[in-house]
Amino acid sequence: YYSPDTVAFLDGEFVPAAQATCGVYAQSLHYGYAVFEGIRAYSTPAGTRIFKAEEHFERLHYSCRVIGLPLAYSVEELTRISYEVLERNGLTDAYIRPLVFAGAPNMSLKAASTSNVLVAVWEWGKYLGDQSLRLTVSPYERPNPKAVPIEAKVAGHYVNSIIASTEAKSRGYDEALLLDMHGNVAEGPGANFFFERQGELVTPPAGSILRGITRNTIIDLAREAGITVTERFFGPEELRTAEAAFMTGTAAEVIGIASVDEVTFERPFQQTIGGMLAQHYQALVTGQSVGVAL
Ligand code: PMP
Repeated sequence: YYSPDTVAFLDGEFVPAAQATCGVYAQSLHYGYAVFEGIRAYSTPAGTRIFKAEEHFERLHYSCRVIGLPLAYSVEELTRISYEVLERNGLTDAYIRPLVFAGAPNMSLKAASTSNVLVAVWEWGKYLGDQSLRLTVSPYERPNPKAVPIEAKVAGHYVNSIIASTEAKSRGYDEALLLDMHGNVAEGPGANFFFERQGELVTPPAGSILRGITRNTIIDLAREAGITVTERFFGPEELRTAEAAFMTGTAAEVIGIASVDEVTFERPFQQTIGGMLAQHYQALVTGQSVGVAL
C-alpha cells in the first residue's frame, strides 16, 4: 500500500505514509469506533477524476454523524485534499481511503469529542478480480440494523465482513453472500448484489445493506437504458429462478457471479445485463461514456 516515498494526509498535514501512525491506546483501535470510505479516481480525457466524490464524502459525514464522531473537514475540503494526495503521489488511477478515527488515548465507551482524519491512496486493481465469482451463502448474517447503524460505513462492521469472507474462502469459494436477520439476501462482505431474470434486475432494498454508490449508479444506468430494476426482499431460494447475477462496489466495480452454492448461471457474463452495465460503468468512470451499446 505504501513505499518510503508515499505521502498521506493526516490531521492537516501531508506526511510520509510510514509516519502516519496512531497510538495503541486509540479508542478506535480497541472498539472499532471509526468510519471510512472507499473511493476511486480514474484517468479521464479531462484529467484525473474522483468518481462521485461528493456522494462518498457526504456518506462519510453521514457515517460520522450517526455514530457521533466529529468530522472537522467539509465535503469540499476532503475532495480537495484527496486530489492533492493523488497528485503528490503521482497517481491517476487509484483507490482513495479516507478514515476518520478516534486516535486519542481513551478506553471509555463515551463518544470521542475529537477525531483524526487520514486520507491514504494506493493503486488497486478490481479487488474481486475479473473472473465471475463462485459465491456461497454465509453462515454469518449481516449485523442486525437495530443493533448497529448498518447504512453507515463503520470500521467495526467489517469484522462481520472479514469473518464471512474468510469462512467462504476456507470452503473453496471466492466470496460470501450474506443474508439479513430475516433470511433475505442482503449483500457481499464489501459489495451489493443484483440478479437478472426475464430482462429485469432485482436487488435487495435498503434496510440491511450499505446503500452502495455503485449500486445507485448501476440502478441509474439500467433505468436510463430502459431496464426495470426492482428493489425488494428475496430469499436465496429465489436465485434458482435467476438467469444471471452480479455484484457492485467501488473497489469491485461490476463483477459477474458464476454461481451461488449449487445454483449456476450458464450465460457468459458479457452476454448478461450486468455485463453490458459493467461496460457502461467503465465508460462512465473513465469519462468515455459514448458508444456503449445497451
Ligand atoms: N456493501 C458493503 C458492505 C461495502 O463495504 C461496500 C463497499 N463500500 C458496498 C456494499 C458497495 O458500496 P459502494 O458502491 O459505495 O462502494
